[in-house]
This record gives sequence, C-alpha cells and structure tokens, in this order.
Amino acid sequence: MDTLHELTELFRAFPGVGPRQAKRFVHHLLLRGEDAENLSSLALKLRKNVTRCELCRRFFAKDLPLARAGGAQAGGAFKKCRICRDEKRDKSALLVVARDIDLEAVEKSGSFRGYYFVLGGTIPILDTQPEKRVALKELLARVEKSAAEGLKEIVLALSANPEGEHTAEIVAYALETLSKKYNIKLSVLGRGLSTGTELEYCDAETLKSALKNRQ
Ligand SMILES: [Zn+2]
Repeated sequence: MDTLHELTELFRAFPGVGPRQAKRFVHHLLLRGEDAENLSSLALKLRKNVTRCELCRRFFAKDLPLARAGGAQAGGAFKKCRICRDEKRDKSALLVVARDIDLEAVEKSGSFRGYYFVLGGTIPILDTQPEKRVALKELLARVEKSAAEGLKEIVLALSANPEGEHTAEIVAYALETLSKKYNIKLSVLGRGLSTGTELEYCDAETLKSALKNRQ
C-alpha cells in the first residue's frame, strides 16, 4: 500500500468519514505541508499528554496546571480527572454514559452533581460480544467500589435511539446482581428525550428534564 492510500484508509476509519471525504483530507494535507506537520505532532502529543481517568474512564489532559495544586501523582500528573477528584460531589449517584462527549453535555447542563462512568461506546444490536465493545467489567468493578462509599442510584444515560436503548438493556442486565446485592436503584433518563435523540446534541434544558424525570 502506498502512503496516499494508507493515509486515506486511516481517515476512512474515523467516525462519519466516507471514502471521498478521506481523499479530500489527504489532498488538503498535500497542499498544506504545515497542517500535515501540526497534525502529526499534535497526534503524538495527544498520546503522551492525555490519559484515561482510572475512575470514570474519560480522557483528560494530565498536564493541567491544576496538577501543581496538590494531590498529583509523582511527575505532576493525575490518575483521576477533575470531576472524580472533587470530593464535594454526590457519592450516592453514578451516571453511565456511552462517550466522553455525552459526559461533557450532561456536565455542561449543570443538572447532575454525582459521579460518572464512560462505557466507551455503544453495543450494536446483533453484537454477540458486548464486553468487547464497552467497559462492562470495569463498570461492575466501579459499582462494587462505589457501593462501599454510599452509592444508591445508577442512572443509565444513553442516547434515545435503538443502539442506545439496546446498550442500556445489556448494561442494566449486567448490573442486576450488584444492584440487588447493594440495594442500588437502577434508573434510565426520562421522556424528556424524544426518540432518536443523541445525548451529545441535547440542550441543557432537555437534559435537565430528562434527568428529573428519570425512572
Ligand atoms: Zn474521572
């Protein structure tokens, strides 16, 4: 495979990018050498400077200036994100989302004060190995740990489309034993979300009402 083809294939693997668009990206980089250089150096930095939070599994920049304020690991980097380090949040509630971008939407709406868990994706309807698609094992470990710290409710906040609903069902099924064992309530976002709604595109008011009307 030549470089042109290889890079086109790489772009094609990006979410929402088709073959024509992938070719356009490559062409853009051919015309703008400085963009090509920036892209490669930023992509390398991304791997070096961004890490996954050991609690909620979202990605965060580990070299934030905040790291100097205390609580940092050796080398000035955190293992937990800003939200998970915040002791003032509500330990009784855990909100489960598919992706980082969904967590950001809920956080921005200001309607949730508990902690989060990011599944890392959704489960396609005919998929036979859900544990390979989302962090189910890690979620169970997290719930087990949080139960000892007063967790009382898990809110499944998945998009209101077939794949989101399917994912919610599988996650709820996986959590059943632990939720009974520790008497943790399982709820899902309420009807504020109309069918087909992707969580990341929800406005603050809609998210607020969906959270309020969770069932
Ligand atoms: Zn976190």
